[in-house]
Amino acid sequence: MKAEKKKKIIKTIKIDVDKCNGCQACEVICSALHATPKYSSNNPARARIRVIRDPLADVYVPVFAGEYTAAECAGRDKYTIDGKEYDECAFCRASCPSRDFFKEPDSGLPLKCDMCESDPSLTEPMCVQWCLADALVYEEREEDVEEDVTQEDIELGLEALANAHGWQKVMDTVARMSKKD
Ligand code: SF4
Ligand code: SF4
Repeated sequence: MKAEKKKKIIKTIKIDVDKCNGCQACEVICSALHATPKYSSNNPARARIRVIRDPLADVYVPVFAGEYTAAECAGRDKYTIDGKEYDECAFCRASCPSRDFFKEPDSGLPLKCDMCESDPSLTEPMCVQWCLADALVYEEREEDVEEDVTQEDIELGLEALANAHGWQKVMDTVARMSKKD
C-alpha cells in the first residue's frame, strides 16, 4: 500500500521534576476524572500518574502510566539522584506483573494515561490544570507522518465515490486510468 503524508497532533506533557513539590493533586484529579460516574470519588491508586516521593531528600518525580506489558522485562534500571539510589523499576511507566503500579486496585486491569481524551471538552489534561507548581506543562505540535493507506480507507473512499456517481462510472474510470499505467 502507498504511504501518505498526514498531519498528526503530537501531545506532550513536559515534566519539570525540580518544580514538583509532591502534593499529589495530579493523582487525585486524575483518579476523580476516571471514576464512574465522573468525579464521584478519588483514589490516587486509580490514577494514571504516580508521584514517586522521597520527602527527606526533597525528591518528587511524577511518572505517567504507559503501556501494559504481560511479562516483566529481563533488564533493570538503577537510578541515583543526589547520591540516593532508587528502587529498580521505580520510574518505569509500564503496567507490569512485577509490581502494583498502574493497576486498577479492584480488578487488576492495567491503567494507562489517555491524555484525558475521554473528556473532549478539556482544553488541557486535568493533571496539568491542577498542578499549581507548574511542574506539568502541556504542549501540542503538528508533525508530518507517513500513514499507510489501509484496505478499509480505499473501500470507504470508493463507496463514497459510488454513492455520488454510481458504481459503473467509478469502475469505468478505474479501468481507464489503469490502462494509462
Ligand atoms: S500536582 Fe504538580 S506539584 Fe503536585 S505532585 Fe503532581 S506534578 Fe507534583
Ligand atoms: S493526562 Fe489525564 S489521564 Fe493522563 S495522567 Fe494526567 S489527568 Fe490522568
